[in-house]
Amino acid sequence: MLTEGLVVVHECLGEADQMLRRLVLSGPIAKTAKAGQFVAVQVQDSSISSFDPLLRRPISLAEVSPDQNEITLLYRIQGRGTEILARARCGERLSVMGPLGNGFSLPEVGELWLVAGGIGIFPLYALAQSALAQGLSVRLFWGGENQSFLRSAGLNDWQALGIPIHLCTLDGTLGDKGFVTEQLQGRLFQSFQLFGQTKLINIENQANNAQHSISEQITVATCGPKKMMQVVTELCMNFAVPVQVSLEERMGCAVGACLGCVCTLVDETGTLIHKKVCQDGPVFRGEEVVW
Ligand code: FAD
Repeated sequence: MLTEGLVVVHECLGEADQMLRRLVLSGPIAKTAKAGQFVAVQVQDSSISSFDPLLRRPISLAEVSPDQNEITLLYRIQGRGTEILARARCGERLSVMGPLGNGFSLPEVGELWLVAGGIGIFPLYALAQSALAQGLSVRLFWGGENQSFLRSAGLNDWQALGIPIHLCTLDGTLGDKGFVTEQLQGRLFQSFQLFGQTKLINIENQANNAQHSISEQITVATCGPKKMMQVVTELCMNFAVPVQVSLEERMGCAVGACLGCVCTLVDETGTLIHKKVCQDGPVFRGEEVVW
């Protein structure tokens, strides 16, 4: 679980947003990692002390390439830890713990809808790749601040997948102006009408065992700001569509020992329970999260 990754690519993700970085690491994690899992990267300011900062920084797996033995991390420089990480050069070795946590579960059939807000897009690319490899249809809903953010954060790579993409920006410079949840709501409503009709036709044909309700056709996976994921969950619950959410909490140890990332959930009996985002998540069923 504790291993080293050799930096093979470390670059600015896009010219417009200089804070976004793409880090490709070569190492054994690629053999076992799964979409939705993350790694805890040691970041150290060697000019001060080899233990400063003490805590590793959690970063999701944006791409997993077992054949090339590589993982890709996409991150935004936020504060001291990621600033130090951004100084890593090609050929350097980083101490990486992982793969950590429980990732997304793919449905066996149907469509996977991905809903991303801002840099919440990063862990969803690996998921899209696994889903497409499994023969699922994938559709993306992605909202960001403006056109240059979406382009910097990898829009071209998503377009190269050849999947339907619904974009929106807060300033209207690309896609619809507004929130990604509005696009999701519209599309859920359309699909509800479509699958509702399929169900009716099947009932008329007495082919009850071939009924397809919307919940059997669509699975949603989402990552982004907490408020957005809450709205996505509520919409999905209204349409009885299963939804998986990737939660983000500030983490201490990242392996379940320090209880720094505990979140509140509700179990099947309605009882409030606590789970660790690092070990039990970061991916949970939307309906079990207490927002
Ligand atoms: P700090 O100095 O620690 O903080 C700077 C600012 O960032 C502060 O305002 C702080 O409140 C905020 N911040 C720090 N940590 C978090 C957090 N976990 N959630 C929200 N805000 C935070 N970031 C990416 O860019 N790409 C990823 O793929 C990614 N995946 C993640 C997966 C998981 C499971 C988790 C828990 C976090 C992930 N993050 C990701 C967030 C990333 O870990 C933080 O941005 C990073 O740890 C910040 O460290 P820092 O020392 O640079 O900033």
